[in-house]
Amino acid sequence: MNYPFNSKDFKTQPYWWDQTPAAETGDSALPAKTDVLVIGSGYTGLHCALQTAAADRSTVVIDAEAAGWGCSTRNGGQISGEIKPGYEELSRRYGSAKAFALIKEARNALDWLGGFVKDQGIDCDYQQCGRFTAAHSPRQFRRLVAGAQQQPAGLEQDLRVVTAQDQANEIDSAYYHGGVVNERHCSLDPAKYHAGLVRLAMQNGAQVITRCEATAIERVKDGFKVSTSRGTIHARDLVVATNGYTGTVTPWQRRRVIPIGSYMLATEPMDLARANQLMPRQRVFSDTRKVVVYFRRSPDGRSLLFGGRVSVFESDPVKSLPALRREMLRIFPQLEDVRISHTWMGFVGYTFDYLPHLGVADGVHYAMGYCGSGICLASYLGNRLGLQLLGREEGNCVFSEPEFQTRPLYNGKPWFLGASVKYYQLLDRLS
Ligand SMILES: Cc1cc2nc3c(=O)[nH]c(=O)nc-3n(C[C@H](O)[C@H](O)[C@H](O)COP(=O)(O)OP(=O)(O)OC[C@H]3O[C@@H](n4cnc5c(N)ncnc54)[C@H](O)[C@@H]3O)c2cc1C
Repeated sequence: MNYPFNSKDFKTQPYWWDQTPAAETGDSALPAKTDVLVIGSGYTGLHCALQTAAADRSTVVIDAEAAGWGCSTRNGGQISGEIKPGYEELSRRYGSAKAFALIKEARNALDWLGGFVKDQGIDCDYQQCGRFTAAHSPRQFRRLVAGAQQQPAGLEQDLRVVTAQDQANEIDSAYYHGGVVNERHCSLDPAKYHAGLVRLAMQNGAQVITRCEATAIERVKDGFKVSTSRGTIHARDLVVATNGYTGTVTPWQRRRVIPIGSYMLATEPMDLARANQLMPRQRVFSDTRKVVVYFRRSPDGRSLLFGGRVSVFESDPVKSLPALRREMLRIFPQLEDVRISHTWMGFVGYTFDYLPHLGVADGVHYAMGYCGSGICLASYLGNRLGLQLLGREEGNCVFSEPEFQTRPLYNGKPWFLGASVKYYQLLDRLS
């Protein structure tokens, strides 16, 4: 579909792929056996593989598509280290000590990731840019202010309230009613980060084999026999790192992860003065709606990268592009004349309790369900999973503890999604 607002070189692929195409992994054959087989070559799988390969366990990572084809090269590049449920909700569920531990460990993961990228010298435009969380109504602004003023003891963060009168320093939009800045949050180029991880994992001895789909898993005496589209492999340890792309080959995990499409667009480059006017700092942005939108400037500062969910049911990103653009124009009507250069989508892995999970079921290790915060949490949980496989104490992780829940009649296809999106859209309008 060629819309009048498309740029001449409009592409239906992630903005990031222009500069960083899928990492080259060679074309090695699938070995007959390995110590560790990882299904999925995103952040989770590669961080796990990096640990096991560096400890001299033979490690093979397979992906049904190109390396990092899933969310890990198509996300928005916003990094928070936050989990969705708040302290009160978690305290109700698990008690205050566990609530504290869950929030604290996720936040520590943000510091850990920054240290990892720096220590490994991964060139991925990593920046501690801060986040502006914008209030979509006066009521939501008051809620943000109350949240900033009444933080749980020991979990205080430096949150700065910005009123609607002062918000032009953050964002040139009359749509919002003020917001809160959290200076800890960061950004990166997700595909560059992924390419750096592929390089590191391979340098440490991991084999990454692409276009190799796991099609059947059989438990055998000393591990697993895994059938793939490129032959059969025997693995002593098996790791599932498929998150929002978890398929029928791992039905236990599939019944626990809810794939929800998230849609993005990129504008054509603007001149810098115009982009600076729009968002004077290179922050990442999200808002208080339940059906959230998120946006930022590209690392070169010239394009707006805007994401969210505008369709009730899953849709072709090209079909939903006009609605996504309308959403962008509600916030930034001054961009009416700016053309759109890219659109794409991917499946975020949600869970029924809105927490990520790490564990082992029927002998199969997994980490997944990052609920949209996977740059930090997939990296961290993948790393912990690798350490657990090595029997190392540093692998202990509080996200192994909550039960990984499913629901009756759920088999991996979220038939309830349309109704949920409508309900949340209604709540957003009412608030
Ligand atoms: C549009 C969008 C925007 C996002 N924005 C952000 C953001 O700003 N910040 C943030 O923190 N997170 C964001 N996320 C989420 C984040 O990208 C993910 O949580 C994270 O990348 C998950 O990494 P992963 O390694 O677990 O899974 P993925 O990167 O999705 O990798 C899973 C891989 O498994 C492979 N696979 C599946 N089944 C098989 C099989 N049977 N055999 C072999 N391979 C298989 C798939 O091909 C895929 O490549 C976003 C996601 C999307 C879609």
